[in-house]
Amino acid sequence: MKKIIAILAVMALVIACFAACGGKTEPKATNSDADTTAEIVENPAPTGDTLVMGTNAAFPPYEFVAEDGSYAGIDVEIATAVAEKLGKTVEVKDMEFDSLIPAVAGGSIDFVMAGLTVTDERKETVDFSDTYATGVQVIIVKEDSDIASADDLEGKKIGVQAGTTGDIYVTDDYGQENVSQFNNGSLAVQALVNGQVDCVVIDNEPAKNFVAANEGLKILATEYITEDYAAAFAKENTELHDQFNAALAELIADGTVQSIIDKYITAE
Ligand code: GLN
Repeated sequence: MKKIIAILAVMALVIACFAACGGKTEPKATNSDADTTAEIVENPAPTGDTLVMGTNAAFPPYEFVAEDGSYAGIDVEIATAVAEKLGKTVEVKDMEFDSLIPAVAGGSIDFVMAGLTVTDERKETVDFSDTYATGVQVIIVKEDSDIASADDLEGKKIGVQAGTTGDIYVTDDYGQENVSQFNNGSLAVQALVNGQVDCVVIDNEPAKNFVAANEGLKILATEYITEDYAAAFAKENTELHDQFNAALAELIADGTVQSIIDKYITAE
């Protein structure tokens, strides 16, 4: 009898150990907010004839989803022209703006084009291509707003896209407690329309698109800050960086870049 009890006890122990030590696989809890970060670690670096461009496709006219569901815009077309010169094609990966720099640094995408501003802080993590466009941070308000310039922003509720230069500047200048972060410009502008924020600080060309798409908004004439846009690469990816710059220089010299910009931005 004792022997049987001992055998049963050993069996129970073995079963308990299987359950506890992973003999049984439980589905892992997932946190959708962390999905992009998980991809960065798990995806091997892309290779071959496709260049994966990371962007946030809610930033017209630089990148947006066209009516037919394809990705369009200045960045998408310049990237496609560059890739063509390199004998490659572009695959667009639409991500949250905040995830782009970690993704390219981690190697899950080949480069970023996202109306991305060159900053010294970002240069610590990624390398930038030559500049292909200029951006200006502007202030969007409701038509009847009492905000007339950046001097009036003190104590106001300011909407921004999380992680953008607009976010960084206004957080520095007016304090985090006055800044509401949104995942993209469209959501920030919606919050302005709904009265959740008093203004939105964002790049000028997307600002024009958002104001045209929403009644009762205007862009203040005073510019907040001027900046340069460039593509970003992982620091170790000097080969692609150099090839990209060479192709971009040719496309600037032969007028292709300007004609792409003119297609999307009509001079006032
Ligand atoms: N130019 C801004 C930046 O680089 C915003 C870019 C964007 O939202 N796509 O931070």
